Amino acid sequence: MKGFAMLTLNKVGWIEKPKPAIGPMDALVKPLAISPCTSDVHTVWEAALGDRRDLILGHEAVGEVVEVGSLVKDFKPGDKVIIPAITPYWETVESQMGFHQHSGGMLLGWQFSNVRDGVFGEYFQVIQADGNLALLPDNVSVEEGVMLSDMVPTGFHGADNAEVSYGECVVVIGIGPVGLMAVAGANLRGAGRIIAVGSRDICQKAARFYGATDTVDYKAGDIVEQIKTATGGKPVDKVIIAGGTLEAFEQAMKIIRPAGIISNINYLGSGEYIKVNRVDWGLGMGHIRIIGGLMPGGRKNMERLSNLLKYKKLDVSPLLTHRLKGFDQIEKGLLLMKDKPRDLIKPVVTI
Ligand code: NAD
Ligand code: ZN
Repeated sequence: MKGFAMLTLNKVGWIEKPKPAIGPMDALVKPLAISPCTSDVHTVWEAALGDRRDLILGHEAVGEVVEVGSLVKDFKPGDKVIIPAITPYWETVESQMGFHQHSGGMLLGWQFSNVRDGVFGEYFQVIQADGNLALLPDNVSVEEGVMLSDMVPTGFHGADNAEVSYGECVVVIGIGPVGLMAVAGANLRGAGRIIAVGSRDICQKAARFYGATDTVDYKAGDIVEQIKTATGGKPVDKVIIAGGTLEAFEQAMKIIRPAGIISNINYLGSGEYIKVNRVDWGLGMGHIRIIGGLMPGGRKNMERLSNLLKYKKLDVSPLLTHRLKGFDQIEKGLLLMKDKPRDLIKPVVTI
């Protein structure tokens, strides 16, 4: 079969590989819609995970089940399914501790395009299908459904980890598709004021659509000053980091209240250390928490979040700025995500 792969660092291309052989609990799936991710860009062009050779990329897909193993109970060939970016083994101690994202070791719940071939192939293998697949609701298109693989759960994870509560003031730094879903998640959790930090018009507009009350342009000056001016110097309750550089942590520390939460969902692809100023951190006694998390995957999470689309509580269509058709367009989609034209939020390829 054909697949679009990371050949080595800084190098991508089409390769031939045998169709994956599945185990008794697994499913073989063919993609119906895929979306390239900024994480693929970090992996290939920033050496963020180290080298990978001939690894098929991609971890965001809606697909059709082609074959299932003998122990799979709830899925059958022909089913249209959402495939989460995170598809862990569910029997490990990390899963039992509530962190399936790290099943088997740090970040290893992230299988596709990390430790196993991803979804940019004519076929791909989903391990533990009963635990990792969810049926696509009938009234959700494959293009919208693919936003459930990664963008919606990651943004919402940022809002969940920030423990956003009614009426709070939340800052979201970085409003690409992930940050926009963090805005939407914070809004659904009841935030009062949401200050979205981003510079492109299309992203600022989308942020307001998803519930941002204020927008701040990081290219127009220091965001700490701009946010302090907007709040009259009052610190904010929560900060969600979904873009930018390591400097975002220092900025967040300067605007957060005592016992506030800084919730990172950005994939820190380069740089070494994050600086935390001791004074900003209440001389080490400010009860300020910094948490960073890989999105939760698995079936229940996909079923839960797909209800938001099914029952029209969340509209992901403003994210889908570039719609491509055909398996061979995957390369173009990934390069769009790498080069980020100003009118791009997220590309989707239907197959
Ligand atoms: P994106 O690149 O489309 O969005 C990030 C945005 O931040 C861009 O619009 C960029 O212009 C903006 N930005 C750059 N510098 C900035 C600054 N100084 N201040 C504020 N904004 C700035 O990326 P995305 O697809 O939205 O993904 C965001 C991050 O989340 C990526 O690093 C991605 O790899 C990561 N990610 C993490 C998970 C997870 O499970 N935690 C899952 C998916 C993606
Ligand atoms: Zn991703």
